[in-house]
This record gives sequence, structure tokens and C-alpha cells, in this order.
Amino acid sequence: MDGPLIDPHGRAVTYLRVSVTDRCDFRCVYCMSEDMTFLPKKDVLTLEELESICSSFVSRGVTKLRMTGGEPLVRRDVMSLFRKLSRHLDTGALEELTLTTNGSQLDRFSDELADIGVRRINVSLDTLDDDKFAKITRWGRLEKVKTGLAAAKRAGIAIKINAVALRGVNDDEFDTLVQWCGDEGFDLTFIEVMPMGEIGEEARLDQYMPLSMVRAKLNEKWTLEDIDYSTGGPARYVQVKETGGRIGFITPLTHNFCESCNRVRLTCTGTLYMCLGQEDAADLRTAVRKEDNGAALMDAIDEAIGRKPKGHDFIIDRRRRDPSVSRHMSVTGG
Ligand code: SAM
Ligand code: SF4
Repeated sequence: MDGPLIDPHGRAVTYLRVSVTDRCDFRCVYCMSEDMTFLPKKDVLTLEELESICSSFVSRGVTKLRMTGGEPLVRRDVMSLFRKLSRHLDTGALEELTLTTNGSQLDRFSDELADIGVRRINVSLDTLDDDKFAKITRWGRLEKVKTGLAAAKRAGIAIKINAVALRGVNDDEFDTLVQWCGDEGFDLTFIEVMPMGEIGEEARLDQYMPLSMVRAKLNEKWTLEDIDYSTGGPARYVQVKETGGRIGFITPLTHNFCESCNRVRLTCTGTLYMCLGQEDAADLRTAVRKEDNGAALMDAIDEAIGRKPKGHDFIIDRRRRDPSVSRHMSVTGG
């Protein structure tokens, strides 16, 4: 088979997110428990295998690749993967090569990323308070992330900050984040906490805050104007009149964003999830390890896209304390 990847609901799959590692140098409270057990190395795809799967998707019409994790920049030699994939930018097959990062390694890698052709990145940052940052990320240091952000900015990379809205944690800082992002020239996206993975004693129900509440809070201080802006993702954007900055809202729980879904997600073990909110997945590792010039891989990709579900059914239910999707966000990378 060749040609574009069209799912059974008529949607073209043009966006692949790739979790290049399940490991991370942070332990954010909503994402991981403190004592995570990570995958044995043999289960993880090599960089060559990852490259091969990504390139197969590009050959089938994927125009946007986002590397994520875990923390993508802690994977050894990950820059060689970026560099190899950047050849698809040169041919024009790929429109965008990007990443989602916690920012801790940006100081080291920004210049190289810019050189490779990465034009914008998402950096996750939930607070501008040093102590809170240390509490949320457990192992992170805000100062290091700020240094990284400055390096990325200097390198000419556009930055979008992703902030998870956490009740009782950063809900007093939304205005500060809006002002800071406006001043720095960063876009800002708020994300609702999603029920994924066992995270220890931290109660997700207590963290959950609907973005309708975030927006209502912001409306008290800022003039938010709806705009017709899209980055190809599920965020809805407004413009802040006072700062000129953009704010996106990603609302998987309170708003159904599935109709326009154009994406699939690959884990570092070669498991392809056709929907972030469903358990169904396809194994691409067996296929990519076959020595048949990629034929089995193409078949496996076609078969997987052929059963992409219509949508998810996330629910944060007061009657059940277990997550509705058992894998951690660090497996599929958000
Ligand atoms: N380590 C990188 C980072 O933090 O940006 C990339 C991977 S991280 C899993 C991707 C995004 O998922 C981050 O913006 C993080 O805040 C978000 N995230 C993690 N767990 C989440 C959860 N349970 N609900 C909503 N967002 C979550
Ligand atoms: Fe690591 Fe990102 Fe998860 Fe935080 S959200 S623990 S930085 S993978």
C-alpha cells in the first residue's frame, strides 16, 4: 500500500508524535510516581528503528513529527535522530519537526536544534515560583529551565509554554503566567490534567480543574479575543488584547476534540496508539525488526490506521479512583 493514511472515519493522519524514551530527569507529580520503573533497554527501539518508522510515516503523508517522552532530550544521542529526520524537511515532505520538552537540557541543545531546522518547541512549565516548581517536578530546578528558555530564544526558536492547570497548586498564578509569556513573546497553552497512569498518593480528583474555570479567572483581568489560529493541534486559541500574546486551551475532558483528530502516537517500544484515550494499540516493533525492506512495517501501519477509533472516552469519575487509561502520560508523551 502507499498513498495517504486515511482512517475509517475519513480523517487523514498527518501528524505523528513519538515518545523517544520513557525516562525523564523530572518526576512531575501528575505524570509519574517518584519510584518509577523504566523499561529495560532491549524493549526500547534503537534510534535507527525510530528513524525508520518515522520515515515510513513521512512517506505516507505525515507532515508533522513531534518528539516527546519522557524527556526527549535525555535520550543519549537523540540529536542524531533529529539530524537524520531533518532530511525530510530538506525535501519538503516534512513541514515541521519539533519537540515537547521540560526545558532542562535546552541550554545544551538549542543551537543544534535550530541548526537542524526546529523552528518552534513546546516547553512544559506550570509555575514561575522556584519552590512550587521543585514541588511539582520533584527533581527539577526552575533556574535551569529559564536558562534553557533564554538559549532557545537566542537561537531563534519560537516557544510555546504548556501549563497544566492544577487546582490549589498554580491556580493563583495564571495571570502571572499570561503576563510573563506576553513579555517574553511566548505562546501559552493551558492543559487539563488527564486521568492517566497510577501516580501515587497524589489525588488526581483534587488536582483537576476545568479550563472553563481557568478562562473565567483570566477574563477578570484580561481581554480575551477568540481568534482563528491553529497549530494543527487540538488547542483553541484566544489573543490577549493587553499583551498581544496567544493563549490556547486544550480541553480533553470538557470538550470533545476528536472530530478533527489527525494524529497517532508511537511509544519508544514501537507501540502505536491510534488514540490517546483508548487502550487499543498496534505493535510496530516486530514489523520494523523484520528484514524485508519495510514491507511488514507498511502493512502494520495500514492495519493500525484502519482501526483508528472515532474518539476517546476519558472520564474523571468521583466513584472510581483508578485512572481511566492505565498507562502514564510519559509512555505516549502527551
Ligand atoms: N517531558 C516533556 C515535557 O514535560 O514537556 C515531554 C513529555 S510530557 C509527558 C508532555 C506533556 O504532558 C507535558 O506538557 C506535561 O505537562 C503533560 N502531562 C503529563 N501528565 C499529564 C496528565 N496526567 N494530564 C495532563 N497533562 C499531562
Ligand atoms: Fe518528565 Fe514531562 Fe512527565 Fe514531567 S511531564 S515527569 S518532565 S515526562
